[in-house]
Amino acid sequence: MNALNRFFKSLFLVELLQGMRMTSRHMFRQKKVTVIYPEEKTPQSNRFRGLHALRRYPNGEERCIACKLCEAVCPALAITIDSEERDDGTRRTTRYDIDLSKCIFCGFCEESCPVDSIVETRIFEYHAETRDQLLKTKQELLAIGDKYEQQIAADRAQDAPYR
Ligand code: SF4
Ligand code: SF4
Repeated sequence: MNALNRFFKSLFLVELLQGMRMTSRHMFRQKKVTVIYPEEKTPQSNRFRGLHALRRYPNGEERCIACKLCEAVCPALAITIDSEERDDGTRRTTRYDIDLSKCIFCGFCEESCPVDSIVETRIFEYHAETRDQLLKTKQELLAIGDKYEQQIAADRAQDAPYR
């Protein structure tokens, strides 16, 4: 009986007609939600995980202490760090690369950082024409951090009560 039922349903396109009836019922009822990008944009969370940045303290000193937690936790092995001790006894990175062609934007690096140095920004509108351009160096990451520090700090402050 079930097989016969299925046969007639497919012969007379019953499910297709049911779907079209549902579509036509809602076609003029629903408010249009199309966003005219890039003139219009959807709201963004302060936890948005976009392009990475390295931050500095207000006195200009790099936050990163080269602990390599972010490198260790990265599931995509996208972070490469070299470091050395400075004359004042502190340790800092000599190399900090993120390969965005490997990165899966999971945010683990940001979560693991004890000094809020590596962060993911709200930036999602970037492109590269070669794979090399997707390898972000320490200087590039610091420059992004310098440029967007105000927004980065405001987003972290907004999220602080939940962390
Ligand atoms: S966001 Fe995830 S995948 Fe990307 S660099 Fe950070 S830890 Fe690695
Ligand atoms: S960015 Fe943070 S977690 Fe990564 S090495 Fe620097 S201090 Fe450690």
